[in-house]
Amino acid sequence: MMPTDYDLVIIGGGPAGITAGIYAARAQLKTLLLEKAAPGGQILVSDWIENYPGFPEGISGADLMMKMADQVKRFGVSIDSGEVKSVDLSGQIKKLFLTDRTVTAKAIIIATGASPKKLGVPGEDEFYGKGVSTCATCDGPFFRDSVVAAVGGGDSAVQETLFLTRFAKKVYLIHRRDQLRAARILQERAFANDKIEIIWDSAVTQINGSEAGVQGVSVRNVKTGQISNLAVEGCFMWVGITPNTAFIKDAVQLDAGGFVVVNAKMESSAPGVYAAGDVRNTPLRQVATAVGDSAIAATEAAKYIETLEA
Ligand SMILES: Cc1cc2nc3c(=O)[nH]c(=O)nc-3n(C[C@H](O)[C@H](O)[C@H](O)COP(=O)(O)OP(=O)(O)OC[C@H]3O[C@@H](n4cnc5c(N)ncnc54)[C@H](O)[C@@H]3O)c2cc1C
Repeated sequence: MMPTDYDLVIIGGGPAGITAGIYAARAQLKTLLLEKAAPGGQILVSDWIENYPGFPEGISGADLMMKMADQVKRFGVSIDSGEVKSVDLSGQIKKLFLTDRTVTAKAIIIATGASPKKLGVPGEDEFYGKGVSTCATCDGPFFRDSVVAAVGGGDSAVQETLFLTRFAKKVYLIHRRDQLRAARILQERAFANDKIEIIWDSAVTQINGSEAGVQGVSVRNVKTGQISNLAVEGCFMWVGITPNTAFIKDAVQLDAGGFVVVNAKMESSAPGVYAAGDVRNTPLRQVATAVGDSAIAATEAAKYIETLEA
């Protein structure tokens, strides 16, 4: 086999990518970890994590990721800044095309996670950053004593809504069903919180405002069709995620939602190409599952590379 720049390139510096880096370094693979933005991934925007073991009092997303990044650096893996734009996985040597360079590797791990989904309603793009947000930790403090809307019904939506009540005087939690999907413990906290009013069976149809920012949301009851307007100064949303797979969509098999299809060894349809964390087809997208996937992916990648060298 022709020489390559690296044994393994890990794409994405969230919990999955960083964990893969730790395992790869300990397997003594020549490893490159590429991250297009700040290392840490989605969990950076989470105020408080209570379900990742080892932190009995909980830990902020930023602190957890700082510790993970320190750990991978301790094993000599640096997190390089760079965005993979496209790939050529047709041969044994994997080619990754970045904005400014091309790198080659014997194996790769796709750990590019996902990005928050949009509602797709008028006003959303116009007021993004002017009251529309997907990050309560980043933007919640701007809404002290305000009335805000929060959209969604899963763990992230309820957890972040609870966080918003530290600042806002009232939060309308707008959910399109008649029950929440969040863990029972989060639901109970939301029901017990006087600042939260849940608007059931409803979907936001428009975000209204002026140059100054958001002034209200239009909400349609999905059962009756009735439209009402809520006066709010902010609209936060957690309505799911879109996998970051555009750059590999023609190179590996994706499922109908665009997530990378892998087997129990985290192998994708292309030999030597693994996927781990939120980017893959998985029933649960959490830090704990992302790090578990990556431990498997990096271990399997090391075995695959050994077969090439044999
Ligand atoms: C608001 C919120 C609250 C949450 N709360 C919890 C919680 O309490 N507990 C819990 O366990 N989980 C929680 N999660 C889920 C958790 O954040 C994810 O499951 C986890 O971050 C997935 O890790 P990952 O490494 O697979 O992907 P990500 O965290 O998405 O990281 C992927 C990284 O890849 C980078 N990237 C993408 N494309 C490219 C490219 N082409 N080239 C280079 N780099 C690229 C991205 O910039 C990103 O940094 C929460 C998520 C959100 C949004």
